[in-house]
Amino acid sequence: MRPKRSRKISAPPSIQGFAPIEQRAIEEPCIWLNWDEFEALRLADYLDLAQEEAAGRMEVSRPTFGRILKSARNKVARALVESRCMGVAGGVVSLDMAWLRCFSCGHLEKHDESMVEGNECPSCGEPKLRLLAGDLTSEEVL
Ligand SMILES: [Zn+2]
Repeated sequence: MRPKRSRKISAPPSIQGFAPIEQRAIEEPCIWLNWDEFEALRLADYLDLAQEEAAGRMEVSRPTFGRILKSARNKVARALVESRCMGVAGGVVSLDMAWLRCFSCGHLEKHDESMVEGNECPSCGEPKLRLLAGDLTSEEVL
């Protein structure tokens, strides 16, 4: 199988997933949304960009963007309708700038000289900041 080309991501998700309020639903396996699918939803449905522009930002063709978006919308709809938890992780993506994400509270911070991996999180104080930069594989974004 041909390796998937990485999709450009401007803003990594600050969360690792959602769960329904009802505890019973936690028993069901989660539906996993890839980072590129999260980005497609952010661009097309949150920022309301035209698909042509959104595809350009992710550096994929318009039809490829359409497929990513359709898959993302389908997963979100399934999670809502089937009362499933939804994880946000995985996918072959490329970040256009470096970020630090706190793996304790989900806080996102742009990476610079004053803020590096291992620093205390400015939001929760835990030393759980992890660098997210460049090309990431599915394992790295989990
Ligand atoms: Zn934190």
